[in-house]
Amino acid sequence: MKDERNYSLLPHNTFGIEAVCRRYVEFSSMEEARETAALLRHEDTPFLIIGRGSNLLLTRDFEGIVVRSAIDDITLQPAGDHTLVRVGSGMEWDAFVAWCVEHDLHGAENLSLIPGDVGASAVQNIGAYGAEAADIIYKVEAVRIADGQQVELKAEDCAYGYRQSRFKHEWKNQYLITHVVYRLSSVFVPQLDYGNIRAELQQRGIGQPTAQALRDVIIAIRQQKLPDPQVLGNAGSFFMNPVVGREVFERLQRQFPEMPHYPVDALHEKIPAAWLIDQCGWKGRSLGRAGVHDRQALVLVNRGGASGSEVVTLCHAIQADVRQRFGIEISPEVNIV
Ligand SMILES: Cc1cc2nc3c(=O)[nH]c(=O)nc-3n(C[C@H](O)[C@H](O)[C@H](O)COP(=O)(O)OP(=O)(O)OC[C@H]3O[C@@H](n4cnc5c(N)ncnc54)[C@H](O)[C@@H]3O)c2cc1C
Repeated sequence: MKDERNYSLLPHNTFGIEAVCRRYVEFSSMEEARETAALLRHEDTPFLIIGRGSNLLLTRDFEGIVVRSAIDDITLQPAGDHTLVRVGSGMEWDAFVAWCVEHDLHGAENLSLIPGDVGASAVQNIGAYGAEAADIIYKVEAVRIADGQQVELKAEDCAYGYRQSRFKHEWKNQYLITHVVYRLSSVFVPQLDYGNIRAELQQRGIGQPTAQALRDVIIAIRQQKLPDPQVLGNAGSFFMNPVVGREVFERLQRQFPEMPHYPVDALHEKIPAAWLIDQCGWKGRSLGRAGVHDRQALVLVNRGGASGSEVVTLCHAIQADVRQRFGIEISPEVNIV
């Protein structure tokens, strides 16, 4: 088990922010996961579970224990016309997607190149291009911190919704996820009706894509649109798209007839936060060493050496402008610690 003191979290957050934790523990087996749970029970100190820190903004040193899974085994179990694939929570998500495509197991292609670990996919219910992790999660295996017991949590019990799960709310800090079991199909049914997947395939002269071709296209689209955290620190979409009630929506639509929107249900509409931010003139602008990406207004970036507080100051300035102009709140999707 890796167990370090006064450990730099710089390599563990995609915003590229320097912060130190008092202790850093990484478990790479079930036994080590149970030992880690015991350590968290016995040490009376705050703790923070991380994956690859790609949805994380550190604003200070962490005076407690940072925990990460490094379990990265993978096993298969046939289940009728599907296959159950049990994957260690510390495996890199995109390495898992690549593995699935190579092994003719389908359902994860549209989630290609999302940064992070397998464990976090089950917490965040990651999603992109019309797919989300909940579509393929069968169950989650974890060690319960309170008593060190190994537990299995069925997908139906995880209350998955848009980027939501119980792990983010009432189960927060209760479990160390050790494995996620996905249910994948040997039949490839491509989902092409989202974003510019079809246009990109057409440009490449591909009519009926293979799983690998679809993965390649998704990767290419993402690389065009999103900054690479290795080059420009960021945590993907910084804000969630606000969902507003009918009355607010109708007022906004009268004021801004060109405003894009998507129905959520009969009473609510979702408005793209990127549009709101762009309308406030923030796209491409900076405040100190933090800024808004010039191609995607939803992505806040570290222009070099920014502190977490500088990013928070920028976040507050954007929220205030959106509030003043549109009378609605946008909330961060990123965990601010
Ligand atoms: C360039 C870029 C593009 C992105 N694009 C997308 C996108 O298209 N769709 C999308 O959904 N997200 C996207 N994201 C956000 C991010 O990739 C996801 O939120 C991802 O799941 C985070 O994984 P992580 O391993 O870095 O988790 P972290 O950010 O480190 O942690 C996320 C959460 O998971 C918990 N957690 C992690 N591991 C465990 C474990 N073993 N046990 C218990 N809890 C755990 C943490 O406590 C935390 O609450 C993007 C991020 C970046 C930087």
